[in-house]
Amino acid sequence: MTAVETALGPVATADLGPTLMHEHIVTRSPGVHENWPHLFARGIRTIVDLTTVDLGRDIDLLVAVARRFPVQVLVATGVWWMPPRHFSAHGVDAVADLFIRDITQGIGTSGVKAAIIKCATDTAGVTPVIEHILRASARAQQATGVPISTHTWAAGRSGEAQQAIFAQEGVDLRRVIIGHSGDTDDLAYPRGLMARGSTIGMDRFGLDHLLPTATRVAVVAQLCAEGYASQMVLSHDANCWTDMQSEEDKRRTRPHWHYNHISDDILPALRAAGVTEEHIAQMLVHNPRAIFETRHGRQA
Ligand SMILES: [Zn+2]
Repeated sequence: MTAVETALGPVATADLGPTLMHEHIVTRSPGVHENWPHLFARGIRTIVDLTTVDLGRDIDLLVAVARRFPVQVLVATGVWWMPPRHFSAHGVDAVADLFIRDITQGIGTSGVKAAIIKCATDTAGVTPVIEHILRASARAQQATGVPISTHTWAAGRSGEAQQAIFAQEGVDLRRVIIGHSGDTDDLAYPRGLMARGSTIGMDRFGLDHLLPTATRVAVVAQLCAEGYASQMVLSHDANCWTDMQSEEDKRRTRPHWHYNHISDDILPALRAAGVTEEHIAQMLVHNPRAIFETRHGRQA
């Protein structure tokens, strides 16, 4: 039996069930007070929380949420695209050691082990500090075997630059999820990412200002029809609370950006677009399980 670490300790990968692969319980500017999140889940059994230190990761809050709600929460190490100065002031291996510690010993004094490494490239591209973090993430991946999941700017095809750096570092690209790849309808881009072995995150359902829902659905349906269901995972990149946008503004500008959107709206739309139940189970259950069941790093 293979197990994966969650906020409440190891869980059998067979018990992950329908899994949202890129969410945030709470994101906040570091140092600002937390609120209490409300969590609802339509048959979703697991959420992968990709909140990093520069998004205000609060491990005690994640544990409290995991205790209170019947959803398994996997937590991440790594850095988003606003790294604190520390990360450019120390060598790649020193940064990798921080990630490895989160994965092997646990985050802070919580004992909660990270199950995935998050890193990010945004509109500025691969700046020196971002390259530093991508390489540290690659080395931590190989040292521990846990997968990498990235934030990208799809319009700039930044997943390609990430893959190039990971490959240079010797990472098996099958251990990488290139996130936010559903933000474009330029299908050549996600096809290329998958041809090189990675899984892609179709993980921003509800962010219609980046790409309308109908287009997101059409893209996933088309790629399923082409045989790519085994290399896609679904999620919202949503949060219960953030201090980066007021609740009122969030409800007004992104009314469908919440954890139920895929269950309530997207799965029916995918079915209507011809996506089979097998493909849906593949993207929501089998792919997440396989990603966390595989542990190999350098030995792969
Ligand atoms: Zn995210």
